Amino acid sequence: MAPPEWKGYEVLRDLIPSGEFARTLMEPMTPRYITVHSTQNSAAGADALAHAKGQRTGTFKTSRNRIGYLAWHFTVDQSHTIQSLPCNERGQHADFEGPGNTYSIGIEMCEHAENDRAKTLDRTARLCALLMVEYQIPLQHIVPHHHWRRIRHDDKRDLGHKNCPHFLLEDGKPGKKWQLFLGQVLKHYKTHTKYDAALVAHQASEPPVVPPSEPEKVDEEGAATAVK
Ligand SMILES: [Zn+2]
Repeated sequence: MAPPEWKGYEVLRDLIPSGEFARTLMEPMTPRYITVHSTQNSAAGADALAHAKGQRTGTFKTSRNRIGYLAWHFTVDQSHTIQSLPCNERGQHADFEGPGNTYSIGIEMCEHAENDRAKTLDRTARLCALLMVEYQIPLQHIVPHHHWRRIRHDDKRDLGHKNCPHFLLEDGKPGKKWQLFLGQVLKHYKTHTKYDAALVAHQASEPPVVPPSEPEKVDEEGAATAVK
């Protein structure tokens, strides 16, 4: 059953089939960050449904990472939020074998021409706020893809920091637009009954903390409770 916090925010589930494509390994994850991306796909019809279907059917192949497919948790457009991976299972969307994939929930925002960006941003900000509540993720752990340095898996090449999501960055880096987006997240977060001021305490100088992974069991049903 969905917790009350999620009431009014519909998440459609279109999971990649267990044991197939990007979910061959189904590696467990405790989410500690949220990584925000944009699809950089402006093709007509490249909406959330299309990206979820692509993930479910094994379309997003790559030879560069360990599993052979790209995978992220949620895709958001102006009218839909669709989940492709359980939140307690790791994806392949940020930095190959780095902490971004090991510890973060990946969200892709659509940017096809017919999509309304303001609505997409607001839906994404609201999703981030709900995930903050659900997984006790602090505001400063909501990061743009740019945050993670990418060392490619197959040839160990250092690809640096990606300009993603490009429309929330300035000169390829987080600035005023990113801060405005975090403000939107905060606005939604404060509407929740489980609002916890400690999660939004300003700790600008905090170094990124990446704790060691703990063995744990993936509980698909448990993961589903947040977004049923
Ligand atoms: Zn990205």
